[in-house]
Amino acid sequence: MFKLSYDEITARITEKTGISREEIDSKVDQKVQQLSGLVSREGAAHILANEFGIRLFEQLSGRLQIKNVISGMGNVEILGKVVNIYGTKTFNSNGREGKVASMVVADETGQIRVVLWNEQADNADKLKTGDIIKIKGGYARSKNNGNEIHTNDKSRVTINPEGETINLPTSVQPARKKLSELQGNESSVEVLATIVQAFEPRYFEVCKCGKRAKPSDNGATCDFHGTVKPEYSYVMNAFIDDGTDSLRAVFFREQAQKLLGKTHEDMLSYKDQPELFETARNDLLGANVKITGRATRNEMFDRIEFIAQQLTLNPDPNEEIARLEQEMKELRTEKSL
Ligand SMILES: [Zn+2]
Repeated sequence: MFKLSYDEITARITEKTGISREEIDSKVDQKVQQLSGLVSREGAAHILANEFGIRLFEQLSGRLQIKNVISGMGNVEILGKVVNIYGTKTFNSNGREGKVASMVVADETGQIRVVLWNEQADNADKLKTGDIIKIKGGYARSKNNGNEIHTNDKSRVTINPEGETINLPTSVQPARKKLSELQGNESSVEVLATIVQAFEPRYFEVCKCGKRAKPSDNGATCDFHGTVKPEYSYVMNAFIDDGTDSLRAVFFREQAQKLLGKTHEDMLSYKDQPELFETARNDLLGANVKITGRATRNEMFDRIEFIAQQLTLNPDPNEEIARLEQEMKELRTEKSL
């Protein structure tokens, strides 16, 4: 059964019949009384909608607009543009290795978190923001008050399917900001800057499960797996500058790899041979980078830092031109309204 909230049901009744919310509320109360309190108000609203001949789920098959995705739907097809990628994680479940990747995709009507599991998650490594992703046979569930689309073994994921385009309003894309405009409370923002300084990666112990592990006498300790042979992950800091300001940006694991164009193995080799990092550092200085991430205020040093969640090294200048054109177009439309 799909879960529609009371507000969602009444909103649809109002939309289809023009009956006010107050009137619907009182009809629902009557219905609950008639049925001696055997139904919930949501249930009564469902019955009411039925009596008005309103189908609460109009799009039960075929492609759904993102705004119409409702928790509980199965066999959902959506087409969306990737606006944010949160990376891929491996996990262990009953001795089996699993993989999960999450991202936010958007169409003209809204945006939604997409979670790809196992083989489907491999697709995420090839994805970048701006790509179009089609998911067939996904299912919708709700989490933290938002809907999500998940895949299962039968789902089909296609990247940049032929003939499909999506023109997002700029409001759905992460806001582009100048470094000088950042306040330190932005949860998803895009900046375009030059790398002006880069620091050696710092390494820390992790468990096979990906969680941080505390170094101990005989290896490291994972909260979930006890004493383990530690693996290493890393974080790299760099100063970025866009002409308006410069600030410290933080690149964890995958983002550090992307920034340097190096593999995980390369990154680990710098741990014992820091001199090897010098060439990579020199290649990086002066590079242009488009980064989506969050800006936070580091209270201890009273400065704003940028945590990279997604980056493109030396972004395509044509994309920049297209972006400006789109912004101009929207400005003109706003003015003419
Ligand atoms: Zn672990």
